[in-house]
Amino acid sequence: MAKRYSALSLLRHALLPSSPWPRAWRSPAPKSSYDVVIIGGGGHGLATAYYLAANHGIKNVAVIERGYIGSGNVGRNTTIVRSNYMIGGNTKFFEFSLQLWEGLSHTLNFNVMLSQRGQIGLAHNPSQMDVLARKGNIMRLHGIDAELLDRGQVMKLLPYLDYSDAARFPVVGGIIQQRAGTVRHDAVAWGYARAASDLGVDIIENCEMTGFTMEQGKVTGIETTKGPIRAGKTAIAVAGHSSHVAAKAGLRLPVESHLLQAFVSEPIKPLIHHVVSFGAELFYISQSDKGGLVFGGHIDGFNNYTQRGQLPKIQTVAECAVSLIPAVSRLRLLRHWAGIMDMTPDGAPFICGTPIPNLYLDGGWCYQGFKAIPASGWTFAHTVAKGEAHELNRCFSLDRFEKGGELDDHGAGNWNYKQ
Ligand SMILES: Cc1cc2nc3c(=O)[nH]c(=O)nc-3n(C[C@H](O)[C@H](O)[C@H](O)COP(=O)(O)OP(=O)(O)OC[C@H]3O[C@@H](n4cnc5c(N)ncnc54)[C@H](O)[C@@H]3O)c2cc1C
Repeated sequence: MAKRYSALSLLRHALLPSSPWPRAWRSPAPKSSYDVVIIGGGGHGLATAYYLAANHGIKNVAVIERGYIGSGNVGRNTTIVRSNYMIGGNTKFFEFSLQLWEGLSHTLNFNVMLSQRGQIGLAHNPSQMDVLARKGNIMRLHGIDAELLDRGQVMKLLPYLDYSDAARFPVVGGIIQQRAGTVRHDAVAWGYARAASDLGVDIIENCEMTGFTMEQGKVTGIETTKGPIRAGKTAIAVAGHSSHVAAKAGLRLPVESHLLQAFVSEPIKPLIHHVVSFGAELFYISQSDKGGLVFGGHIDGFNNYTQRGQLPKIQTVAECAVSLIPAVSRLRLLRHWAGIMDMTPDGAPFICGTPIPNLYLDGGWCYQGFKAIPASGWTFAHTVAKGEAHELNRCFSLDRFEKGGELDDHGAGNWNYKQ
């Protein structure tokens, strides 16, 4: 049983530095067999394991991670959480996720540092304002908070934007979701890992899944670098690696893998108090607790598994930053990195069973995969436990492309919602 974190335990450890904190999660050797094996110890795999144990009582579960917890996209993103979507399917799913974020520190007894600082999407012409009004109306009809902002209100909230006559993209107005914000990403991985481990889930790090064992067309387990493991059910949750992991079971996914880069500037005094999205291009920026400006833009233009960004995209993203906030041109870029993301034809994910018995899939996560972690874990656990979709992930099926049920996200996350 992991130690419960509390103000008292903090005080005790502060006063007695000689007594070290215990490990946050166990580090067991793999058993020969589990009820459920989850491939991928990112946010989605760990959340799924936690909700399998917490919501469904399925505790004989292993999470197999080829690196270390937090080494994938869960620790590489720009940490934005929000529920300002407007197409059916996404709207309720992401709002459920935001509601779970709002209680997550308490649920996991781990401070995930949710900062509901508000996310502002900008409009640069009257037709973009019309789209924002429509989006706000749809959100409010679903009980989700949204407020339209005119130019004067945006100027008050974001005084550092370019409002000059020479502005390349004049700001007409915007929309704010006050409950949106950021979450500390590695705390999410550690919090779910600790809580899942505490319920009996085995988290096996530095263990790569190398193949499936199959009998009469059914998946019966996996091969790993630490030996074979039998599994009643096997769940894939490997983010940017879904297509080649699924291919090992003979399953061809409609997924391409692309890089998405993130950038952090040198630290400065508090300047940006919200998460801001640029309506004229795909660009988003916020300020970290340490003062660095954290920003990102589009995926790199071609498929890649290197987990290292390309120079041309750095230039495009920097151009967005400077045209929106001229003062940024004076800052030094401290670091940048990339993560590998699955991109589906419609930009929406898969949380579903597969045509192969006992094999389940959570993948196809691109720009929206971090904010989705709690709802994805919750609904994927439901699907794996019960063998059927939860009402919130019914639309994220593999067969939607055969049946005309695409969630037309244009393969670009929030791109077409923010104008
Ligand atoms: C730069 C960047 C910025 C982003 N910004 C945001 C944002 O602001 N908001 C948002 O909602 N989303 C954002 N995203 C997207 C989001 O981070 C991802 O969609 C999401 O984290 C993916 O799910 P995950 O956390 O489970 O992935 P991961 O953490 O990548 O987990 C998958 C794990 O599977 C493991 N794995 C792969 N193959 C194997 C194998 N064969 N055997 C065992 N393990 C294996 C990997 O090592 C990895 O740890 C961003 C992504 C990037 C790259």
